[in-house]
Amino acid sequence: MIIETFILTPFEQNTRVVACEETGMAICIDPGEKSDEIVSFLNDNNYQLQAITLTHGHLDHVGGTSALHESFPKAEIILHKGDEDLYYGLPNQPLFMGLSPHQLKPLGLDYKTPPKLTRNWQDGEIYAVGNLRFKVLHCPGHTRGHIVLAEENEKKVFVGDCLFEGSIGRTDLPGGSYEQLIDSINNNILTLGDDFAVYSGHGRETTIGREKATNPFLTGSYQIGRGRFV
Ligand SMILES: [Zn+2]
Ligand SMILES: [Zn+2]
Repeated sequence: MIIETFILTPFEQNTRVVACEETGMAICIDPGEKSDEIVSFLNDNNYQLQAITLTHGHLDHVGGTSALHESFPKAEIILHKGDEDLYYGLPNQPLFMGLSPHQLKPLGLDYKTPPKLTRNWQDGEIYAVGNLRFKVLHCPGHTRGHIVLAEENEKKVFVGDCLFEGSIGRTDLPGGSYEQLIDSINNNILTLGDDFAVYSGHGRETTIGREKATNPFLTGSYQIGRGRFV
């Protein structure tokens, strides 16, 4: 598995291109912003972009979908049904996140309605990318339709904004639920195994074992918390 990370927005979201070494088939997980660098990376390596795979519908994860899809119009766009309202409502998201209109343009946050989704993720489906096999796990709590992508042979999981090194996703935005998020993490992510590498939507890589042992939201040090990042 090839993993290339791009940090594109003021939200410091991790956009990732993940490719199968043997076949060159690739996905882009959460294109946060328009990026010529991603287009060049795919073309220079002869990777074929099969899909834009969205963990959830927040602006810092889907803001670059339109531009990337214009460069690779054959790529599927896949998101869970629970986040369709966020996705198609992208132009209005900055306002409900508390950013005022005059803050948006200087930050480059001027969003149009993104292109139509190809289809929705189904909980438990196996999504093949060349020889890679991603298990799709619905993990609501940060948003209603958040999913994670787990590659069990490679022992890697792409968790979006569910889980971070030392923290968890915020649950105070529309559709958020602290209890649901903790349940999702406990039942769908921590159960994958301690040796899984965790690739989060913000911040550094970690492992499930490390988070189980040290993450204050999971060890019980914080009984009530608000998580970080959008
Ligand atoms: Zn988010
Ligand atoms: Zn985010």
